[in-house]
Parts: sequence; C-alpha cells; structure tokens
Amino acid sequence: MRPSPRRHRTALAASLLAAPLALTLTAAPPASASPAPAAPQQCSDEPRDLPTWKFIDYDEMRAELARLERVSHGRVEVKVAGKSNRGRSIHTATVGTGPKVFIVTSEIHGNEKTGTTALLRILNWLGTSGSPEAARIRKEITFVAVPKINPDGAELDRRGNDNSWAEVQRDFPQLAGRPPAWNYLNTRLQGDDYTTRPGFDLNRDFNPDLDYRPKPEDVPGDGSRPGWFLNPESQTLRDIYKYWTARKGKVHTYVDLHHQGACVREDAQNRLLDVAVDYPPLPDRFFEPGQKYAPYARTYAKTLSKQLAISAFRGIEERGYIPARYPHPPTRDLPGQARSSFGLIGTGTVLFEVRGQTQTMGHYQSERFIRAVTAGLTAMLRDVASGEVGTIDPDTFEQLPGTAEEQSTAALED
Ligand SMILES: [Zn+2]
Repeated sequence: MRPSPRRHRTALAASLLAAPLALTLTAAPPASASPAPAAPQQCSDEPRDLPTWKFIDYDEMRAELARLERVSHGRVEVKVAGKSNRGRSIHTATVGTGPKVFIVTSEIHGNEKTGTTALLRILNWLGTSGSPEAARIRKEITFVAVPKINPDGAELDRRGNDNSWAEVQRDFPQLAGRPPAWNYLNTRLQGDDYTTRPGFDLNRDFNPDLDYRPKPEDVPGDGSRPGWFLNPESQTLRDIYKYWTARKGKVHTYVDLHHQGACVREDAQNRLLDVAVDYPPLPDRFFEPGQKYAPYARTYAKTLSKQLAISAFRGIEERGYIPARYPHPPTRDLPGQARSSFGLIGTGTVLFEVRGQTQTMGHYQSERFIRAVTAGLTAMLRDVASGEVGTIDPDTFEQLPGTAEEQSTAALED
C-alpha cells in the first residue's frame, strides 16, 4: 500500500508497536482510569506531518480482535460483515445478548482514530469483567462494535475511502453518463491528494430506505438529500443494521465516532473541548405534513437521541474531561449521514466529535481523548442498560455548554 504523501510511519514506530497491545488496554472498567492528563492550550488547523503511530492500524486491530475473542472465551464474537472497496475485511465485534442493540462505528473518516481504541477497550472490559455492572450491560444490551468501518481510508490516514466514480458506475451501470455524486473527493482536502486516488465521504452515502437502489436522477444529489449506498463500506454498515433489526426487532442506539477542528472551545469557560456530542441534523419544519420528512414523523428518534447525547455528555464530564454540544444550527440538514438515516427510522443516534484530526493533532493527546470517548460510551451503556436514559429530560440538552460561536464553522467535520 502506498503511504499517504502527508505522513508515513517510521521504523522506530514499527518497533514500538511490537510491544503487546494488551498492555495498553485496561481490564478494569475502562472509564475508571487515572485522572485526565492536562490539555495544553495551543492548537492549529493547518494540515502538516505529525506522528500517528500510537493509533491502532488495521493489522494491529485484527490481532487485538483475535485476542479479545480468545481471552473472553467467546463472549466477544468477531465476524467479517463485509469487504472494503480494496478488499479489506470489515469486522464487527459483538458482546452481550440483551434485547437493546447498541451499534458503534469508528473511523468512517479514516483520519479520525481515537474511537477505534476506545471500542477495543470497552470490548475488553465487557468481554472479560465479572463485575455486576458489566454483567448487567451484557444481559440488557447487544453491543456491536465496528472499529474500522472505512479500513481503506484508515490505512491511507485520510477522510475518504478509496473508490473511483468509474468503479461505482461499474457496480451500478444505471449511473453511466451521470456526473459523480456530490460527496466524491477528487481534489486536495485536509492535506491529502485525491487527484490520483479518489474516494467518497462515506458519511453522506446513507438513506433511510435501507432497500434503496441508486437511481440516475438522484445523482449527483446534494447534502439536503439522502445518499445512495454507492460504496461497499456504507453497504456493509446498512447490512449490519438490517441484520440486527431482523434479529432483535430494532436497533436501539447508534453512535458514530468522529473528530473535528483542532481549536474548538466550549462556550461556558472558553476551554479547548475534548468531545462534542450531537443529535441528528434534521430541521423540525421538514417533519410537518407535506414536508420531506413527514413520512418519518412518527419514527424519528429525536427525543431518545437527545437523551443519549446528554448521557454521553454527563459521562465525559464526570470523568474530568471537557464535553460540549456540537454546533447544531436549526437549518442544518444532512439526511445522508448514517446517524440521520438511522435516526429517521427509529434508532437513537449520537455523534461524538473529538477535537483535532490526524493532520492537525497527530496522535498528540490521544490517550486523553480515548479516555474521554470511553467515558461517554460507558455512561451511555450503563444508562441504556438500566433504563435511566429514558428518565433524562431531552429539553435540557440545549442548556449544556455549546461550541464557541467563532469556531462553529470550522467545527463542522462530521
Ligand atoms: Zn468525521
């Protein structure tokens, strides 16, 4: 595989990575790790070469999933749910047998990596812990982790996957002669060169109609319209969602783990934030009779999404990290995001946005961010397992600290 021109791994990095991964994965409840390392008050959104070797690459993830299956004596079940466009397996790791299906994806944007380690730590805890807390979560929840939903983009350390419009047209001959979908990346973006190796922003490729087949008149589309499942990676996530819906009746919760601008601050004390959370960007007015989301007015899980986001916020804050609400202008409308499409059909969905992507932060502060993400997810698992999430007042979401106004535009990276 050709390394990204922006960054490359060194021999030193490779030798450090030879250390057993398990040493970095706590067996204790992951959110109870030692206090938060302090965050330095400097940042830059300029793309540049930065070290990323502390993050878990594809082969390391596969080794860790195999280890988790082994040490959990089968409590963690690893499956191949599909293949990326370049033929890499896309894995799910499932633990728990409960009626509430809780799916989490990481690295749908391949330069947004802390969620992958957070998921492996949670799998380790849920798979091996004999604590009453872990047992209750396993009994109430079926936890489905997809630690690298975009493995091609993750290996290239970039936002998009590795797919060309010509390949999409081969898969969908009805799109012959149509211009590329609006989320096609074939220029330069975030320091990455897509001109010779194009791809798609996968988090615009989703549709609330899980049986949708691409129609020529729906392409190129735009952000205010649903996506088309043009890519093998988004098709795989759709298939995972359909599989669990068929098995358990519905998917209760979906969380999508992302990163955003490097300099975003919360607006209460103007501190650089750790993780921002959000419910789906779908304007209320479009759910009124005759409007485009009216068919989903009865299924859209807005209330549950906000309750879950508050649960995550509290969990992050309780552990000493800095959460915030992600910018959510009332006109922001992105039905093609996975969280939006799944939210429309009844799943409570939450976006996590860690501060900084690899081209602006490298792996600096990754331990802090991994712990913050883990704290948020662990709180959600506890609140969903106990039913507490249903007692949270969704209208208190807007009272939580938001993202400082001057940063809001730069922050929109989900
Ligand atoms: Zn993202």
